[in-house]
Amino acid sequence: NPQILLKARPAGRPGPEHFEFVESAMPAPGRGEVLLRHRFLSLDPYMRGRMDDTASYAAPVALGGVMEGECVAEVLESQHDGFAPGDWVRGARGWQGFSAAHGSSLVKIPKDGGGVSHSAYLGVLGMPGTTAWVGVTEIGRPKPGDVFVVSAASGAVGGVAGQIARKYGCRVIGIAGGPEKCRYVKDVLGFDDCLDHRGDLPAALDAACPDGIDVYFENVGGPVQEAVLPRMRAFGRIAFCGSVATYNTRPLPPGPNLSILTRRKLTLQGFIVSDHPLAWPVWRERGAAWLRDGSLKFKEDVVEGLQNAPDAFVGLLEGKNFGKLVIKI
Ligand code: NDP
Repeated sequence: NPQILLKARPAGRPGPEHFEFVESAMPAPGRGEVLLRHRFLSLDPYMRGRMDDTASYAAPVALGGVMEGECVAEVLESQHDGFAPGDWVRGARGWQGFSAAHGSSLVKIPKDGGGVSHSAYLGVLGMPGTTAWVGVTEIGRPKPGDVFVVSAASGAVGGVAGQIARKYGCRVIGIAGGPEKCRYVKDVLGFDDCLDHRGDLPAALDAACPDGIDVYFENVGGPVQEAVLPRMRAFGRIAFCGSVATYNTRPLPPGPNLSILTRRKLTLQGFIVSDHPLAWPVWRERGAAWLRDGSLKFKEDVVEGLQNAPDAFVGLLEGKNFGKLVIKI
């Protein structure tokens, strides 16, 4: 069973020295368990936090442990009444080729994908899509005519968040890295505009949002956040989803001046999608309907081979992915 283990904890940017590729014995399913062949592995920015041994909302990966991650897998053998060989499932099964998992920890997905790729259940119809749904609807609370800005706009969460906000009647401005991503966000995802954070972002924001910003869906932090915050309008909402620009930064830079929260009477709320279990089935149904009617678009960045996961993951933290990053095993 091919596995990628956490070998050492990085002090900043992870490199090959922090991961170890090993071949282990094949797992054997016990009572109530199924044997899974992993077909796709999701790579997500949160995994950088699991490499650190610091207090967080989730426990770190142990040194020598298998790196954590969600997979889409095929059932090879079953000792659970609810599953049969040939079923497809999603579950948190780690960076490895096979695993034995209790049936209660798995969610079935359609064998034929149900009109989308199996890997879409790790992205647009999975955790990132649900994150976008929660952040926009529960925290952003968009109204028609609101100016809605989202960073990492071509990515797994941001791309969906902006499309949901458009459905709520907002004027949606994305922020992304480079002309190719910005073009995609405008032309394919249908955002009203997309600004390149590698250029003069403050000036671009002034031009695109002359009257300010009502909702900011924050995915990156750092200089992008510094540019957006002073441009928030009174009573604006900030859905603080993540700050991937600083996940490798040690020590963390001094924070921005948040006095703007008082002056503009802003609401800033962080959230973690796993605290919103009721949103998952709602989004799965809603997102699937929008995919079927063609009004929701998504892009995947598929990298072949489990052994390439560490490099692909490091690239994700630096904007090298274009769309939801998944490993095809
Ligand atoms: P993406 O698919 O958006 O990939 C990450 C993107 O971040 C990169 O492509 C890059 O886009 C951008 N980025 C990386 N470094 C920088 C930088 N220095 N400055 C600006 N942008 C940068 O990832 P996800 O959609 O999976 O995740 C987006 C955010 O959502 C992350 O912060 C993640 O931690 C968070 N998240 C939070 C969850 C929650 O429950 N709160 C759940 C899931 C995700 P570009 O090239 O356009 O700059």
